[in-house]
Amino acid sequence: MQAAMRYLLAVTLLAFITPVTAVEPQRAISGAIQLFEAAAPQLPRGLHGVDLGRYQAALTQGEGVALVTGADPADRCARFAAYALLPPHNGVVQLVFCPRFHTGGNDALRALTVLHEMVHVVAGPDECRAMAFAAAVEQAASGTYTPVDAYWRANRCDVSGFSLPR
Ligand SMILES: [Zn+2]
Repeated sequence: MQAAMRYLLAVTLLAFITPVTAVEPQRAISGAIQLFEAAAPQLPRGLHGVDLGRYQAALTQGEGVALVTGADPADRCARFAAYALLPPHNGVVQLVFCPRFHTGGNDALRALTVLHEMVHVVAGPDECRAMAFAAAVEQAASGTYTPVDAYWRANRCDVSGFSLPR
């Protein structure tokens, strides 16, 4: 009887634990879409070299993007919460959401991460471009942006030609 109870408890815990890693990134994407749509009327065409039409299509309609969860095809989840697998394959970029995307940070950071990764999808691997654009969207939508100073320094973005909103 006790063994059966323990088994039941273990199964119950497992049932609670499993959905955390299996959760879809859709809520964070919705948050990013809300920010982008609020910001879009104020964003200059070609902001930081990003085609806004393509960006919007990728973010809101998933054009040229395949969302990946529960896999780490480039073995980068130890370092990143999410990453875009470049170059595109048959016109599609895999956007990989790692376990820590769901378990770490907060909703604002998750939305910023989606905004950032979508820049990689449509405009390539430049980290400074991606962060400058994501911060500009956040700033235009809400009047402020998530501090990314450490990231900015780590990628030497101060000499990249891109800049954060002020
Ligand atoms: Zn990036």
